[in-house]
Amino acid sequence: MIIPKTSEEIELMRESALIVSKTLGILAKEVQPGVTTLYLDKLAEECIRDHGAVPGFLGLYDFPNTLCMSPNAQVVHGIPNNTPLREGDIISIDCGAVKNEFYGDHAYTFEVGEVSSEIKKLLKVTKESLYVGIREFKAGNRTGDVGFAIQQYCEEHGYGVVRELVGHGLGRKMHEDPEMPNYGRRGKGKKFVEGMTVAIEPMINLGTRRIEQLQDGWTILTLDRKPSAHFEHNVALVNGKPELLSTFAYIYEALGIESNEEDEFRQKALVL
Ligand code: MG
Ligand code: MG
Repeated sequence: MIIPKTSEEIELMRESALIVSKTLGILAKEVQPGVTTLYLDKLAEECIRDHGAVPGFLGLYDFPNTLCMSPNAQVVHGIPNNTPLREGDIISIDCGAVKNEFYGDHAYTFEVGEVSSEIKKLLKVTKESLYVGIREFKAGNRTGDVGFAIQQYCEEHGYGVVRELVGHGLGRKMHEDPEMPNYGRRGKGKKFVEGMTVAIEPMINLGTRRIEQLQDGWTILTLDRKPSAHFEHNVALVNGKPELLSTFAYIYEALGIESNEEDEFRQKALVL
């Protein structure tokens, strides 16, 4: 059952999302060769608690940490550890926070030092596919419209679109209805309703879409061990249009990246 939110609840969700956004911004400055994912995990926990929130993943389904840290061939749900990041790695960081009973949950794949042009392109296309998908999150559309758009965009580039893991409704629970797959058919799936809030999160592989799970019961990685990227935003359906609740602006500020992708997205959303 989809649980639409009131405008007051959406504002609370924005607050939770922005705590995650700021946390990712803090981490952005620290992601570099030699740093361990466990160190970044502690930093994130501190930052979340400093904002009067609670880590959203810690203890959820018995997950042991604040962040899901998935380097290179890991797709999602990697567990932080003491292995230092290396030059040329990528690291997908997924972060959740709860405040005022509402969850924020978004993710970004960072470059560690200088990465290959092949990987840079994977990250670029995956992030673009996120916005391509979010644009379809509008009145009259269904989950299949978002999934179709993401799938088509990524498969055009020859990438593998993970099927087994999907985006989701978000609110007082981390995982609410509906499931938001990154693949699908136009006009199929659950119909969007005003006030609903979701996490849209393409998980895109450089090679095969096939994945497997490690013995730890968490870590998902690509079957061919080629890299995988993951970008996630939280979005509300307001006046029939997608409204971003999360932002990558803190990351870009930390990294000195000039990006107007979110403004561009908002301008396009206005004319949907
Ligand atoms: Mg997430
Ligand atoms: Mg999510």
